[in-house]
Amino acid sequence: MSNNVFVLAEHLNGKLADITFEMAGKAKELAAAFGGQAIAVLLGSDAKALAESVGADSVSYVDDPALAEFNPEAYSRVLAALIKERGPRLVMMGNTSVGMDLGAGLSVATGLPLIAYVNGLAVDGGALVATSQIYGGKIQAEAVPDGEACLVSCLAGAFPADAGRGAAPVEQIASPVPLGDLKVKFVKLIQPEGGDVDITQQAILVSIGRGIGGQENIELAQELAEALGAAVSASRPITDAGWLPKTRQVGKSGLTVKPKVYLAFGISGAPEHLEGMRGAETIIAVNTDPKAPIFDVAHYGATCDILDLLPALSEKVKG
Ligand SMILES: Cc1cc2nc3c(=O)[nH]c(=O)nc-3n(C[C@H](O)[C@H](O)[C@H](O)COP(=O)(O)OP(=O)(O)OC[C@H]3O[C@@H](n4cnc5c(N)ncnc54)[C@H](O)[C@@H]3O)c2cc1C
Repeated sequence: MSNNVFVLAEHLNGKLADITFEMAGKAKELAAAFGGQAIAVLLGSDAKALAESVGADSVSYVDDPALAEFNPEAYSRVLAALIKERGPRLVMMGNTSVGMDLGAGLSVATGLPLIAYVNGLAVDGGALVATSQIYGGKIQAEAVPDGEACLVSCLAGAFPADAGRGAAPVEQIASPVPLGDLKVKFVKLIQPEGGDVDITQQAILVSIGRGIGGQENIELAQELAEALGAAVSASRPITDAGWLPKTRQVGKSGLTVKPKVYLAFGISGAPEHLEGMRGAETIIAVNTDPKAPIFDVAHYGATCDILDLLPALSEKVKG
């Protein structure tokens, strides 16, 4: 076994996902503590330029036409072979649809333990300590893997992305295993319906929860968003009620957002909601309940009625 840390680079439509940078930055810190290297593993086809933009210590780029799109069978085979051949101390994947597709199977294929829902990683006395969110984020559990090596799947937004941006030397290799007989075939990528605002790309989000009271009050949030040059997002009850489209939902079963400013109006701060927005740079919460859990993650907070505050704030911003 080596002291290296592998990071599975995630990419879609020719773009690296932020989780790649988040894990690469953390991997460098952990690898330094183990006395090894942080190695990003990028599986793809004709994707060397992508491999060159991951800020790990180095990048192993496996190039094969069968890896042009994400294919869980192909990814599992290649990763299992690389892990067995190179023996990293730690393998980091996203706790994303990709990582969740791969994690358990890779654990079986390699015989290494898997710790999922990880939002903290540290090295203590030479041993890895992973913090894992369990019961939908209600409990933080610390786990020390059995044996020296393990797999972890990391929650989006758990680590800062900037430390993992940059460039690193790329080693291009052919697939270590044949991929000509795959039983799982990529057919086509179905993109979500377009036409609505992409809340993951907004600098400011005016986010509303059940505290908004009724569909007729949504326009109060829209007015403020317009005045601020922001977009309106929401907690799940709002999209479940059909008051806003599903594309506006933040959280576990919605989207993960990282705006510069996240205004949480009448949102209690359930773990499933926090999972999608705790990576925002500045969180400002307004809630009538001073004990609402949203205040545990908010940088600024106010306890007042949003139905009074929203129109007043819009007036103020409009000047
Ligand atoms: C598997 C699963 C997945 C889920 N996925 C998601 C998800 O992706 N996103 C998500 O958001 N939730 C998700 N949930 C639901 C989640 O558990 C919560 O039920 C939800 O986030 C609560 O939404 P809320 O904060 O708007 O409503 P509530 O919890 O009802 O909170 C409303 C808040 O508004 C405050 N309030 C009321 N009136 C006012 C007022 N006039 N002015 C100011 N404040 C006021 C109240 O004090 C309260 O804190 C999921 C749940 C499960 C089980």
